[in-house]
Amino acid sequence: MRTYTRTHVHITFANPYLTCDRCGLWVDAWHNPDQCGCGETGWQNLPCGHQAGVTSKCASWSPVDGCRCAEVLGEVPHEPRQEKT
Ligand SMILES: [Zn+2]
Ligand SMILES: [Zn+2]
Repeated sequence: MRTYTRTHVHITFANPYLTCDRCGLWVDAWHNPDQCGCGETGWQNLPCGHQAGVTSKCASWSPVDGCRCAEVLGEVPHEPRQEKT
C-alpha cells in the first residue's frame, strides 16, 4: 500500500449547478487520473466519488450570468447554490 502525498489534479466545473446522475448530490469537480497522473484508475465525480454522468439542475445557467431561472422562468425550480466567483 502506497501513500500518495501529492495533490490530485481536479477539474472544476464553471457551472455550480451540476449534480451526480447516480446520487443526485452536487458535483464540484471531476477527477481524471490520466490528467492527474496519480496512478488510480477510473475518473470520479467529486466529492461523492461516483463514476457517473452529471446533469445541471439549472436549465438556464449561463457562463456569463449564472442562474437566470428567475428571469427566464419567473421562478427558480432548483435549490439555490452559491455561485462560484
Ligand atoms: Zn454521486
Ligand atoms: Zn437556475
